[in-house]
Amino acid sequence: MIQLATRVKQVTPSITLAISAKAKGMKAQGIDVCSFSSGEPDFDTPQHIKDAAALALAQGKTKYGPVAGEPPLRQAIAHKLNNDNKLNYTADNIIVTNGGKHSLFNLMLALIETGDEVIIPAPYWLSYPEMVKLAEGTPVIVETTAETDYKITPEQLRQAITKKTKLFVLNSPSNPTGTVYSAEEIKELAQIIVAHDLLVVSDEIYEKILYDGAEHISIGSLGEEIFKRTIISNGFAKSYSMTGWRIGYLAAPIALIKATSTIQSHSTSNVCTFAQYGAVAALERDESLGCLQEMVNAFTQRRQVILERIRAIPKLSCPTPMGAFYVFVDISRTGMNSLDFCDALLENQKVAAIPGKAFGADNCIRLSYATDLTSIEKGMDRIEKFVNTLK
Ligand code: PLP
Repeated sequence: MIQLATRVKQVTPSITLAISAKAKGMKAQGIDVCSFSSGEPDFDTPQHIKDAAALALAQGKTKYGPVAGEPPLRQAIAHKLNNDNKLNYTADNIIVTNGGKHSLFNLMLALIETGDEVIIPAPYWLSYPEMVKLAEGTPVIVETTAETDYKITPEQLRQAITKKTKLFVLNSPSNPTGTVYSAEEIKELAQIIVAHDLLVVSDEIYEKILYDGAEHISIGSLGEEIFKRTIISNGFAKSYSMTGWRIGYLAAPIALIKATSTIQSHSTSNVCTFAQYGAVAALERDESLGCLQEMVNAFTQRRQVILERIRAIPKLSCPTPMGAFYVFVDISRTGMNSLDFCDALLENQKVAAIPGKAFGADNCIRLSYATDLTSIEKGMDRIEKFVNTLK
């Protein structure tokens, strides 16, 4: 008999993957499924990024490299953080990882131990609490509502802090809600973090996908004291359509980067060497800005369509997302929980959506608009039909 470690028994398997697997299985049987479940841009990686990686491959960048990343990439990331985010980092403050997910996992292993509490506002990206548990820490979930645009208030943060609190997780723009914190809101949270001498990890993976003039403020840019307590997690997946490349990074005080490098040196070692040169091109070549703008323009149009369609269905509601490519829809007026709703929606109308339960909000579902307009219209016709047939 295999006796699994307690560590893994405490972890919740991904609900997202279960729904996606069911939807994929139905598609494979030839069923016309409309999917709102995707967590990745439906655009290809821009050509200049692919070319740079192909060139590096042709030039023989095929060997083991430094664990913390290729020097030109660490340099380019430090430059980007200084320029875009007003964060005073050098290449030594950076570790390149196998995606943003791996960044956060490395961080939890380096920082969290038994009994440490990590404050996570809900709705949250589903991996945060599980990573904390894998590091044997305790996730402290703080529920937020649509009334505050799913933002944690300063009072809620203050009340969640105990002697055991070590880290606060901030994700703006957020997956699953699309919420973007304003400069003033971030400043208030920063003051509390400094006053209680906590650390904050700012997951900025959607920083470039913003709407209606929303601005991304990096919490570490708000002063020396908060900067010392900030860890940035970011990656290339969403802004540059590079989900499959698996490249992310952490930026943090050097001692922490050294600790995560030690962990990485005994787990994955360096990220695929030639792929890292594609990431350098993503940051250094002007073409990236054009590609990003094109993608954000498409998302802007789709967001408008999907919001209009949701708001035309009396039993559904959602705040206006200001970033990322998701809408988080309140389904409580249907009287169903999110798992039953998504199961029935897939079964009856062949539409895949992610139950809010996966993100700590069982009264909602997440719809991703990283899909073409025709599919959005068709999928929304089906959702409308489904909701209207409910009593
Ligand atoms: N953080 C958030 C909020 C995300 O939504 C994701 C991916 O969906 C990640 C981090 C990890 O991204 P990746 O590991 O693909 O870089």
